[in-house]
Amino acid sequence: GTIAVPVSPHACQRRTTLNNRNRLFTDALNILAENAELSENEGPYLAFTRASSVLKSLPYNVTKMDDLKGIPNLGDHSRKLIEEILEGGTCNEVQDLIQNVRYQTLKKFTSIFGVGVKTADKWFKEGLRTLNELRASTIKFTKQQEAGLLYYEDLILPVTKVEADLIKQIIEEAVHRFLPSAIITLTGGFRRGKEYGHDVDFLITHREEGREEGLISKVISWMTAQGIILYDDITDNSYHKWKYKESETFDRFAKCFSIFKLQKMVHNLEPGRTCSHGSLAANETRGIGLAGHAGSPRHLTATAAKDKDWKAVRVDLVVAPFGQYAYALLGWTGSRLFERDLRRYAKHFGHMILNSHSLFDNKQNTFLLAATEEEIFAHLGLDYIPPQERNA
Ligand code: ATP
Ligand code: MN
Ligand code: MN
Repeated sequence: GTIAVPVSPHACQRRTTLNNRNRLFTDALNILAENAELSENEGPYLAFTRASSVLKSLPYNVTKMDDLKGIPNLGDHSRKLIEEILEGGTCNEVQDLIQNVRYQTLKKFTSIFGVGVKTADKWFKEGLRTLNELRASTIKFTKQQEAGLLYYEDLILPVTKVEADLIKQIIEEAVHRFLPSAIITLTGGFRRGKEYGHDVDFLITHREEGREEGLISKVISWMTAQGIILYDDITDNSYHKWKYKESETFDRFAKCFSIFKLQKMVHNLEPGRTCSHGSLAANETRGIGLAGHAGSPRHLTATAAKDKDWKAVRVDLVVAPFGQYAYALLGWTGSRLFERDLRRYAKHFGHMILNSHSLFDNKQNTFLLAATEEEIFAHLGLDYIPPQERNA
């Protein structure tokens, strides 16, 4: 017979590829997790997220409850849901939720760039239900939310790997103008092997530490002058103000949350291929918004035109000093749960504080340096998990 290898309760000790054999269950659990998140119920959010994640890591399809023997992170609620789906193909609680107006509305509102749960909930309580009601309201939006509404129809479209690679070329050209041997790495979901993303994440560094200072504003200014940037929000590096014992989710790197204006790649079409295929198709079928509509007082509808030759794409740029590069790379590759479990594992089992800048060993009272991700896993006493297996 075979010896069953126990499944770890820590996402950072599991290998989770994109080949999810239990999508029927994980989709349902993700909806419950999302609903908990939209209700600011952190406990249930984590419980459902962990339950979903452990199923994603299983190398087999779950076809009976017995298949879940010894699997951690599955509470009563999650097990009942799986049982119900095994018996009837669906789960009533999930079916009810996706019909629920509050769930639908908060999901829609939080899908706007710059809108978090608290804001979405406030708008919902004020009786607002649709994007056009938001656009027509007297709400004072942030600059980020204005951009989010303006480019909404594009920003909800998945970004393809082809588009991500194209954006990488654009950024390389811009960065190398100011710092020729800077290193630009695609991070986030695309580094984990995903074919689609909600944005494109990049990490920039230079072997000579200090040369990367001031880079981001120069690069963004230049790209803005080229007409490539639709929105940008630059944050300067504030690592000098950082107290490493603070457990912050956000890091202190210089970064820019931006929206790029990506020209559609018509010249890249193969002969015989029409515009209704591939990455161009999505825009053609969407975006029937309110362009030029009289009832759109603040014109927050720039992506509504049907035949425009560009697409708005969210891009995150992060600049790390070379000495922190490996930590930044690990921190920006994700997934969200993988990162969370790495930090939790470091704290509870290594008495260490991990963040996107460093690893601090409380017992030796010292920072542990690392030039590669492999070295960080080794410091933590963990087997190395490559990016493609961090899709927890
Ligand atoms: P998607 O395809 O939806 O973009 P993703 O995994 O790339 O998936 P992102 O939200 O882009 O998701 O985040 C990528 C990684 O960067 C995550 O692991 C997250 O921990 C990290 N991250 C995202 N935003 C921040 C932030 N403001 N500060 C620090 N780290 C962040
Ligand atoms: Mn991303
Ligand atoms: Mn991102």
